[in-house]
Amino acid sequence: MYFPVMNDQKPKPLIQSAGSGRKTLKKAINKGEFWKPCPGTTGGYLCCGYQIITPLTGCGMYCRYCVLQSYFEEEGRVLYENFDDLKKEIHDKLSRWNGVVRFGTGEFADSLHAERETGVSVAVAELLEPYSNVIVEFKTKSTVIEPLAAIKHPEKVIIAFSLNTPATISLMERDTAPLEERFRAAAECLEMGFNVAFHFDPIFRYGSWDKEYPSVVDLIYDTVRDTSKIAWVSLGCFRSNPALKTRLKQFDEHLPLYSDEMITGDDGKIRYFRPLRVEVYRVMKEAFYRHQPDAPVYLCMESPEVWEEAGMIDRIPDGLPAYLDGRAGKLLGVVR
Ligand code: SF4
Repeated sequence: MYFPVMNDQKPKPLIQSAGSGRKTLKKAINKGEFWKPCPGTTGGYLCCGYQIITPLTGCGMYCRYCVLQSYFEEEGRVLYENFDDLKKEIHDKLSRWNGVVRFGTGEFADSLHAERETGVSVAVAELLEPYSNVIVEFKTKSTVIEPLAAIKHPEKVIIAFSLNTPATISLMERDTAPLEERFRAAAECLEMGFNVAFHFDPIFRYGSWDKEYPSVVDLIYDTVRDTSKIAWVSLGCFRSNPALKTRLKQFDEHLPLYSDEMITGDDGKIRYFRPLRVEVYRVMKEAFYRHQPDAPVYLCMESPEVWEEAGMIDRIPDGLPAYLDGRAGKLLGVVR
């Protein structure tokens, strides 16, 4: 098996026990809010203005870099039973909302991995169907897409696949779908009438990252013929809160992640030194523009300086949320 070499450190395979408790599925009542704006980050990094709905937390798969490990005490999945409260809250808040809303359920969970057991994504899509200004994104590293055939208006839904290089997937992820299966699922979603999105987050710098990540970009364009169906693509270099590093250090699992030159940013997160991030985004931007000069690529949680130095700031003259609202509005047919 081929593992990427990061700074000449010999990365270890995942320890067997990592993530072993993640497959449990418990039920609970959520007494708080189901809809919250994306927490974004502080320190002047540009946020995309995403709105998060959380009917479920947890994942069922395991990624060494997963920040949920440091967020939740509960390792397994938790499904909130009081879906009627979720419905009421969303109807109430949407009645007071002006303009496009971009919802997602993939911030604190994988949106689709548990769909056969829970049916929760289909229920969320059905709930949002009446609103012409609303689009919802289901983000996944699984290929659990067959339950989505029950969604009546797939054109109002984005199925988003998180991507990485095959080498990184084999080193860092367990139970996620292999890369070629994610692309097969994306092709099927397009046939079913859904829009698609792709997320390269986290991107790691290792020996041949600058060749392997662009090769994955090529696979996107082998898969998607009608590029107007790509809602957006996000790019984000690996970053984490210090708590994740502390946790991984306990198992001596931190080294392949926290390699190369890293700094602590203004938001307290550990990330690659700025010139290294800019280099990644320039390489990725070029890889996309070779196929699609107006590819809807954006940077996740980056500073205006990085947008500028990566040569991408002219994409967002009115800011990142306005740019993405415009993309959503076009897909919904409410913006030309
Ligand atoms: S698929 Fe996503 S939510 Fe699940 S373990 Fe990996 S990073 Fe975490």
